[in-house]
Amino acid sequence: MTKPDIFKVDYKEQDSAIKYFTTFTYGCQMNEHDTERLAGQLKSIGYEYSDQLDSVNLILINTCCVRESAEKKIYGKIGELKRIKAANPNVIIGIAGCMAQKDKEKIFKKAPHVDFVLGTHNIHELSDIVKEINNSKESVLAVWDQAERLAPDVPTVRKGNISAWVPIMYGCNNFCTYCIVPYVRGRERSRPLQDIVQEITQLGQEGFKEITLLGQNVNSYGKDSGGLFDFADLLKAVDGVETIERVRYMTSHPRDMNEKVIATIRDGNKICEHFHLPIQSGSDEILKKMNRGYATDYYLKLVEQIRKNIPNASITTDLIVGFPGETNELFQETLDLIKLVKFDAAYTFLYSKRSGTPAATMPDQVEIAVKKERLQQIMNEQNEISLAINKKLEQQRLEVLVEGPSKNDESIMMGRTRTNKIVLWDKVGFELPGQLVNVTIHKAQTWLLKGQLSD
Ligand code: SAM
Ligand code: SF4
Repeated sequence: MTKPDIFKVDYKEQDSAIKYFTTFTYGCQMNEHDTERLAGQLKSIGYEYSDQLDSVNLILINTCCVRESAEKKIYGKIGELKRIKAANPNVIIGIAGCMAQKDKEKIFKKAPHVDFVLGTHNIHELSDIVKEINNSKESVLAVWDQAERLAPDVPTVRKGNISAWVPIMYGCNNFCTYCIVPYVRGRERSRPLQDIVQEITQLGQEGFKEITLLGQNVNSYGKDSGGLFDFADLLKAVDGVETIERVRYMTSHPRDMNEKVIATIRDGNKICEHFHLPIQSGSDEILKKMNRGYATDYYLKLVEQIRKNIPNASITTDLIVGFPGETNELFQETLDLIKLVKFDAAYTFLYSKRSGTPAATMPDQVEIAVKKERLQQIMNEQNEISLAINKKLEQQRLEVLVEGPSKNDESIMMGRTRTNKIVLWDKVGFELPGQLVNVTIHKAQTWLLKGQLSD
């Protein structure tokens, strides 16, 4: 049995007796999942999803503020909605998530056509707020400064019916000097292990095949449990859920990765051999200024340990270029490090000043043109490395979880390897979304692999 995907619509006409909502989500997987919890509440009070922006009754934007570019895009989107509000004054427009938590009532000042602002700690209040606005027609600001210890349970609808996101902890205690997340998501709070296992068991029974455990820093899971359980214990417990085929997790911090977690992944059956370990910089001087809590030597040993235990593991990372004080020499150290480690992939970002964080007022801010030039250099280098690593997979037969037809062409199927590489192949006809199949790779590219279904 699979759950219906309410975010997929195939109707042409709307029923005038029903109220409809639509959503826009910016940012990370945690935000994507929060949107599922927001949509679930709207459904519970009678709203149905629609993608017909001009005729919906409620528009919800779930926001991100990790980089200035995201914020600019979101304010642009909010501005576009003015036209819709002018044409239909009854439409409710709501802004939720990290930017809502940060900007609070400023959002009403910048965009008076917004009806409610909902902070990251207030997600569970959405259904009550919508009912209130429908009755009073007054705008609502709901932004608590602090979270309840655990996010209250709310009805959730899932995007898709094969892979599901499951938050295991909320917030972050790390205070990397460039990052706004601890200020808008609060301190670390771990969910009880049994609750998580129960939710995953239920998802397996509903037909989901792949689970991604979510948190800002998943491997510090359980640090607030008084020693009762840790991340490795959770992985082991989830590995034992029979109905699930694959387990992923996102994001782990290098400092909190340890032998126990690596051994649990090596010895498990369902935990995928993919380590996303954001290093951020290859310079010890910059890492210190970033307050990352490790040096490059430590990181290199960690990579060695992972590769010794799990030789076919893929390792990916995040990198920030142009952090304050990053000279050409220090940037060169990052280039040298990526050549040495040979990551399967790297997500690269221009350092973005976030007001209120320590790095925003550090001296020696790097000019935008220099940042862009460095980003290009890193991307060029990394693309070559990714391609060379993927080329080694040509002629290999890999296990792939079928996700469905590719976005652009129904005759091409798409899935992922355990190492999180995207695979495309010509549809044969019997491969169904959610199935594990084997694909022999014929052509490797930088970001994906192409192949044919095989036995
Ligand atoms: N908690 C995760 C970790 O520490 O690896 C990452 C969460 S953060 C939302 C995702 C990525 O955004 C980070 O790894 C970092 O590379 C990037 N990032 C965060 N703040 C940034 C900033 N001010 N400018 C540029 N990139 C930033
Ligand atoms: Fe931000 Fe650092 Fe926390 Fe990641 S670990 S969310 S980069 S403060």
